[in-house]
Amino acid sequence: MINFKELAKKYGTPLYLYDFNHIQDRFLELKEAFKGKKSLVCYAVKANSNLSIIKHLSTLEAGADCVSIGEVKRALLCGIPKYKIIFSGVGKRDDEISEALKEDILMINLESEGELDRVEAIAKQMQTKARISIRVNPNIDPKTHPYISTGLSHNKFGVDIEVAKRMYIRAKNSENLDPIGVHFHIGSQLTELEPIIESSQIVSDLVRSLKALKIDIKFFDIGGGIGIRYSHENTIDVKSYVDGIFSTLKGLDVTVVCEPGRFIVGNSGFFLTKVLYEKTNGDKRFVIVDGAMNDLIRPSLYKAHHDIKLLSDELNHSKADIVGPVCESGDFFAKNIDFPKTTHDDLIVVHSAGAYGSSMASNYNTRGKVAEVGVLNGEDFLIRKRDSFEDMIKNELECLG
Ligand SMILES: *Cc1c(COP(=O)(O)O)cnc(C)c1O
Repeated sequence: MINFKELAKKYGTPLYLYDFNHIQDRFLELKEAFKGKKSLVCYAVKANSNLSIIKHLSTLEAGADCVSIGEVKRALLCGIPKYKIIFSGVGKRDDEISEALKEDILMINLESEGELDRVEAIAKQMQTKARISIRVNPNIDPKTHPYISTGLSHNKFGVDIEVAKRMYIRAKNSENLDPIGVHFHIGSQLTELEPIIESSQIVSDLVRSLKALKIDIKFFDIGGGIGIRYSHENTIDVKSYVDGIFSTLKGLDVTVVCEPGRFIVGNSGFFLTKVLYEKTNGDKRFVIVDGAMNDLIRPSLYKAHHDIKLLSDELNHSKADIVGPVCESGDFFAKNIDFPKTTHDDLIVVHSAGAYGSSMASNYNTRGKVAEVGVLNGEDFLIRKRDSFEDMIKNELECLG
């Protein structure tokens, strides 16, 4: 059990805390579900890109799914072997592509014909052959929040099946491209299995038709997106997930790659914040805390729910908004929730803040990014220092014309 009060006192607030044992358990649970099957679990670095977390997963033999060359470098720095690193993303710069080729990672995941042109041209310049996969759009409704749904035609991600086929044929006939993978990722925080399996069926049919064209797909990348419980959501049983995927792959000899982010780190994380004041405007009650949207933007960005608990035995509840000090009405962690009466310095814990929390943090309002702490086997350790004022301004120049 993590002692929030003690750690808040030791490291100050606002603070991110991560249970490394939980991260490990989640990763191993997924590994176990794939046991005996050709598979590669690539952690989606963007969910939480702290070096210590990547490193911990690296020691458990995780691969990495990256969406920028910066994330690729993080993965390499943390000891993830290059042959377990995938570079995805809808817009890659030339320098990112050439660097990924230089690093010789497992594959670059293409999301448009334009990108295929660029990767081919750059590989040619470098006199190399780029291993690629193509992200296809199975056009399946993932039944999640529209902001985090990605597999529909009106999303910016991936290409339609017919376009993908054309791209595969071009790649096969190119001296500088080696089409080894197929990829789909229909959304995040998926709580139903059916859309994933349906997508897998569609994409596996594509792989079969490519086989007939003598294009041999070796990596079948099912993306990430496994949902977690923030409050009372249904969750996907990972064993059924894996079995369901493999049931669509009959007759194919492929390595299944999956790219979980939230599933691995989401529930491991806690955001600790302290009460500054309470106030009422009219009959509206606000609890103002020292953490804000620049630290944890999910409630503002996605109207996401996080369980929020006051660490005291106060029983005097009434409705309140939990808000931060940032100058935006969108700066809140919760609206209109039943919350006990608070006083200055009371500690509040925001649960399930391990994914898309610190990795989405900014310095908005010149607020420093907060400290981050890991806890493994009862021991706590700092994994990111709190920003100082100097950290925040160090790249700025005072040009007075
Ligand atoms: C964001 C993303 C993931 C991880 O999503 P989670 O919902 O955190 O599992 C995996 N693959 C791709 C391509 C992504 O964009």
